[in-house]
Amino acid sequence: MIGAVDIGGTKIAVGIVDDLGKVAARVETPTSLLSVYADGIAHIARMLREVVRMAEAELTGIGIGSTGWLFPFTGEFGDVDFFPGWKGCNPVKDLGREFGVQVALENDGDASALGEADWGAGRGKSRLIYVTVGTGIGGGIILDGKLYRGAERAHPEVGHHVIDASGPQCTCGFRGCWEALATGTAMAAWFNSEASAAGRNGVSLSAKEIFQLAQTGDALAQKAVERENYYLGLGIANLINLFMPDMIVLGGSIMKSIRIGDIAKVVSRGCRFVPFERTELALASLGYDANLIGAAAVWHHRFGQIET
Ligand SMILES: [Zn+2]
Repeated sequence: MIGAVDIGGTKIAVGIVDDLGKVAARVETPTSLLSVYADGIAHIARMLREVVRMAEAELTGIGIGSTGWLFPFTGEFGDVDFFPGWKGCNPVKDLGREFGVQVALENDGDASALGEADWGAGRGKSRLIYVTVGTGIGGGIILDGKLYRGAERAHPEVGHHVIDASGPQCTCGFRGCWEALATGTAMAAWFNSEASAAGRNGVSLSAKEIFQLAQTGDALAQKAVERENYYLGLGIANLINLFMPDMIVLGGSIMKSIRIGDIAKVVSRGCRFVPFERTELALASLGYDANLIGAAAVWHHRFGQIET
């Protein structure tokens, strides 16, 4: 059984995952409580002991999937927005010493890509791109069955290819990145600003509420949904043009409200020079525990029987 640690901007989840990708026990805690590294890592260790006890399991290794910039092969954190105090800290060494097992760390987009490839919607696909759309856009690329890494083993950022160079400012320095246009946050920002400009007074709506409003026939909400489908579809079309993968697996909170068919329609408007129909678009299938399952997959790919 592998201890799985999912470090995100909102919560840190810890679970125990068997070698079929099933979560036997899980606990979680708000990230905001763990901003000091020494307390954070001690708390993660306590949560690991707790899930081991709950599942009556024996820990054979620990896999970590984390948001933010990190160095998977040294185990160190780089600059993480919500964890300034964690820079240079090394959970791989610290948890390895604490539990006496091998620990593997990976970006959470890469972790989820590995999880979906091993045990989810992408099983058996050798060229797979995983994209998660929530408050940001992240993902991972698997080519010929292996996790793609760039120079210095860097993790590519699919969310920061530019869709509209005159679009909204992105945190990376450019304007109009996919992430600046197609996240739930971007959708809500556009809708709320248009609604206020049109003199509609009321509370700011979330992306989920805008999708619901669109179903009642509200024209502005429908326009926001159409715009969301268009920008999501454009980014996916770019990935298809660049990689022609067997499958693109889509996860994240916003995908609960999106129809894959609407995305496919946008893709079919372009992509004329590649056989885009051969790229299957699928919803992520690992559900709520996807990140934990992905974190366990990280360990299996680094130290177990699954080769990456
Ligand atoms: Zn960007």
